[in-house]
Amino acid sequence: MITIKKQYSLLSHNTFGIDVNADTFVEYSSTDDLKQFLHDKEIIGNPYLHIGSGSNLLFLSDYKGTILHSRIQEIEVIENANDHVLVKVGAGVEWDNFVAHCVSQGWAGAENLSLIPGEIGASAVQNIGAYGVEAKDLITQVEAIEIISGKEHIFSNAECNYSYRQSIFKSELKNKFIITYVTYKLSKHPVYNLEYGNIKAELEKYPEISLTTIRQAIIAIRNSKLPDPKVEGNAGSFFMNPIIPRSQFQALQMQFPTIPHYDIDQDHVKVPAGWMIDQCGWKGKTLGHAGVHSKQALVIVNKGNATGNDIITLSREIQASVKNMFNIEIHPEVNFIS
Ligand SMILES: Cc1cc2nc3c(=O)[nH]c(=O)nc-3n(C[C@H](O)[C@H](O)[C@H](O)COP(=O)(O)OP(=O)(O)OC[C@H]3O[C@@H](n4cnc5c(N)ncnc54)[C@H](O)[C@@H]3O)c2cc1C
Repeated sequence: MITIKKQYSLLSHNTFGIDVNADTFVEYSSTDDLKQFLHDKEIIGNPYLHIGSGSNLLFLSDYKGTILHSRIQEIEVIENANDHVLVKVGAGVEWDNFVAHCVSQGWAGAENLSLIPGEIGASAVQNIGAYGVEAKDLITQVEAIEIISGKEHIFSNAECNYSYRQSIFKSELKNKFIITYVTYKLSKHPVYNLEYGNIKAELEKYPEISLTTIRQAIIAIRNSKLPDPKVEGNAGSFFMNPIIPRSQFQALQMQFPTIPHYDIDQDHVKVPAGWMIDQCGWKGKTLGHAGVHSKQALVIVNKGNATGNDIITLSREIQASVKNMFNIEIHPEVNFIS
């Protein structure tokens, strides 16, 4: 099935809660419907964008073009081996529904990624990550349709060029392919990944360690520090954590002895952008209709009726402060759409 709406409000399709319209909004529920649409309507040459649930988007104005959205909803086991399963999932399935399904089936690997908003398609674009796990650790292949030709293409994990919050779909192939299905490999013999953040401490509140309690612990931690987009519009972490040369980090450590960091490799270190923003005094501050979340300085929130430009104005002030204090440039994780 395919539905096409004109002058359609995107308010319920972006977690920042920005009130803009799309000229045309298209939803399809199968690969064939999508191919038919691409065949019938020449969208190349006019603005178009495929979205998921809009939890990493910032709309700066009405969208003068076509917004596409997948309603492909299947979850299918395509290989059931002794130690693992391969599960093919439609791009329109909500990511956290898939995680809940894996946990309920006893399939391990995705539990640390519980409660990340968004849909399956975007998980493969964004390489979502949390608590020491990234989508790339689970993805075996990505099925997509090339917009210009309407042809199906299968990308192996290696072809997706994954790195921190990056993939080929965000770089060389940005806006060139529509992801229809993603296949994940989950383990039947869980190896728990509890080293990151305060998972271990949270798990002490539970009688045992299992996929279910890890999921519950992560949901509890996330709920305690991240704003609910339904209450206060936001897109999660607004900035990426910068990766800097170790020599630069060592010099900073002399000046800021408590600066946290994660080792990337021998020569590089990741520094939490939220810590730096907090040091600059931004936590809980408001500028116009936008603000910095009071519990997590990495999250910019819509304080009510913010426009995309209100959010950008605040983000630029934050970037300037961090540059001024630490001589580090921080870059948005959120996709700006104009
Ligand atoms: C409260 C909150 C917490 C968050 N926590 C985390 C976190 O812990 N870790 C993390 O990594 N992210 C986090 N995020 C960010 C967000 O959840 C992810 O980036 C998510 O993958 C976005 O999914 P979406 O479906 O909303 O995609 P959208 O925001 O709609 O789109 C994201 C990108 O994917 C593209 N896209 C979407 N679907 C398709 C498709 N089918 N084919 C091709 N391209 C497509 C879009 O064009 C866009 O470039 C958080 C966000 C919020 C609001």
